[in-house]
Amino acid sequence: MEQGSAVNEKPNVVLLAEDDDELRELVSTELEREGFSVVSVPNGSEAVSQTRSLNPDIVLMDLMMPVMNGIQATKLIKDDPATRHIPIIVGTVIDEKEDVVKGFEAGAIAYVTKPYFMPELKARINSVLQSKKLYDKLLKSEGKYRLLVENANEAIVVIQDGMLRFFNPNAVELIGHPENALTTEPFVEFVHPDDREEVLEYHTRVMVGTRASSAHSFRVVSKTDNTTWVEAKGVCINWEDKPATLNFIADITARKRAEEEMRYLAFYDCLTGLPNRLMFNEHLNQALAYAKRNKSLLATLFLDLDHFKRINDTFGHHVGDLLLRAVGERLIRIIRKSDILARNIEDISNTNVARFGGDEFVLLLTNIEQTKDAAKVARRILYTLSDAFMVDKQELFITTSIGISLYPSDGKDAETLIKKADKAMYHAKNLGRNNFQFYADSMKGASSERITLKSDLHKALENDELLLYYQPQLEISTEKVIGTEALIRWQHPKWGVVPPAEIIPLAEESALIEPISEWVLRTACLQNIAWQAAGQEPMRIAVNLSSLLLKKGTLVELLSQILNETGMAPFQLEIELPENTLIQNDGDVIEALQHLKEMGIRVAIDDFGTGYSSLYHLKNHPLDALKIDRSFIKDIPADKDSTAIVTATIAMAHSLQLEVVAVGVETEEQLEFLRERDCNVMQGYYFSPPVPFYDIIPLLQGEELEMNL
Ligand code: C2E
Ligand code: MG
Repeated sequence: MEQGSAVNEKPNVVLLAEDDDELRELVSTELEREGFSVVSVPNGSEAVSQTRSLNPDIVLMDLMMPVMNGIQATKLIKDDPATRHIPIIVGTVIDEKEDVVKGFEAGAIAYVTKPYFMPELKARINSVLQSKKLYDKLLKSEGKYRLLVENANEAIVVIQDGMLRFFNPNAVELIGHPENALTTEPFVEFVHPDDREEVLEYHTRVMVGTRASSAHSFRVVSKTDNTTWVEAKGVCINWEDKPATLNFIADITARKRAEEEMRYLAFYDCLTGLPNRLMFNEHLNQALAYAKRNKSLLATLFLDLDHFKRINDTFGHHVGDLLLRAVGERLIRIIRKSDILARNIEDISNTNVARFGGDEFVLLLTNIEQTKDAAKVARRILYTLSDAFMVDKQELFITTSIGISLYPSDGKDAETLIKKADKAMYHAKNLGRNNFQFYADSMKGASSERITLKSDLHKALENDELLLYYQPQLEISTEKVIGTEALIRWQHPKWGVVPPAEIIPLAEESALIEPISEWVLRTACLQNIAWQAAGQEPMRIAVNLSSLLLKKGTLVELLSQILNETGMAPFQLEIELPENTLIQNDGDVIEALQHLKEMGIRVAIDDFGTGYSSLYHLKNHPLDALKIDRSFIKDIPADKDSTAIVTATIAMAHSLQLEVVAVGVETEEQLEFLRERDCNVMQGYYFSPPVPFYDIIPLLQGEELEMNL
């Protein structure tokens, strides 16, 4: 039982208001003996003022007192917010029950009859103090919970009969409606219409369960139409004697956004916004299931841009990226026109065009009726992509090679169809690019096995599988062979002869380009010296070099080493560089070219006309020769554009004191045309294709010469 005070605790303070001096003295002494600290006053007025200044734990108030009676004093104490919490016991004589009632009305908590029976008085005081302590504790803990609820990070709401019965300030903010709307409108009104049914079902589930249910997410829509993703966890509780749900709701919009982003990264290509390989596979599988049911046809088109690397090397990755994006957009436009399924869908992420990485795109045609429909789309792609692209203020041209596989004839699953379209694409590349090919069984195991090829190339050098062919170059005016061009071949043990168009890109992708180039240079120089040693007139040898090598900085050293080793005169060596080397406005490149010039080595620009260089670029580099690309020679003299280009190029090169070499001369008309325009050198099947080293001497001795010229 509560005493005046527990050991080491502050004594409870009793304010005793009693006008009878003797009684006041007696009660004071008795209570003090029990451990209370007693302050006594003789009237109601002093009781009020002392209560205010002392803040006692309890007041014992006589009802009949002079100056101010106990009822008035009780009322004043209870009316004052500062003293309202202090319990008051009123003392009254047995017959004055009406006064007791008045005392209670004024705010007293208990009464004791007079004359006081001390044990009863003490017991009453202790019991009131005990209750007060409990009440204080409760107040404190309620305050704590209120604090928690009001400051919780989560929104907390109680829902009963579909209405919000309680909500904390966070809930008001999260739901985004004014408080009066929250109390008057059903809760589902604040939920996104598409999620309402699910939210109602969840509440029903929570109401029948007693334990906290698992969380569920839905959207709330604010008064200003803002949508917020939330996650709610509910538990069934008793709220004012009726079942309700207590819900903790957290804003998960940021998490949802991150999830969306992750999904996007997993299924879409960041650069073009198109589906990636994973997403395309999903589309293709769905389309296959549909085609199976409806016995319809499907076509998969595998596209690889031709010479895309050149764009990257020449203009940098930024321009390359922009071009890829522009290509993606054109492909979408084409497929929208040709594919009914895709036409209805505005979102590009749902189109049947995907980017597989690099310069590879894949298209799915779902509405074809016959094979020739796929060919029609492929033709349209070639045609549409051939229009110039304006990228970063530059006019760029690109072509593509396309491989096509068909469901059901080429395969019944996504993997096979993609693989076969890829194979057909490689076939299109081998046939000269800028065309499309349908898959045929004859392509099985063709050169599309790039990955194995790449690893095989590592062994090619040590296994002696690389070799050089040489193509003679003829001075047109004298019809004399003045040199040869060394062209690489790879005698693959399984695939046969692999052409340079496949070897060089593979070598450039790996670190092999350096050792292979070194091997080519050394072998070509040794061979040229060997011909001279065999009694032939000294002639020059042209070697193709990747522009990557020029930037390495080790080329000049390597060249002088090889010339030293072989004893070949520097002017007998001609380095052929791709046209894009000129545009790279790179200090290292210009410096390397300058060094070659100082050493006396000749430099020629290869494939002239296919890249993006101009007169300006030619003028600013130390060059000796310019090789006109075969694609222009092929159409002279019939094609007006080609004849104009070749004529202008020869004139321009001459004005810059450059020698002109025409590549790919196959006919007499072509040769005549070139001769009339003073083209210096020709190279082509008309005189000889590239041949092994042992066939060069007979050629030089005029055997073949007479045959063709
Ligand atoms: P390129 O330097 O323009 O070489 C000429 C290509 O045209 C050769 O193809 C040659 O066989 C072909 N050609 C020559 N005359 C005719 C003709 O009258 N008609 C036809 N249809 N074609 C003709 P090849 O040997 O396949 O070489 C292709 C390209 O590969 C070369 O083009 C060159 O850029 C590159 N290349 C070859 N060997 C090497 C090398 O060792 N290193 C580097 N970096 N590139 C090389
Ligand atoms: Mg060449």
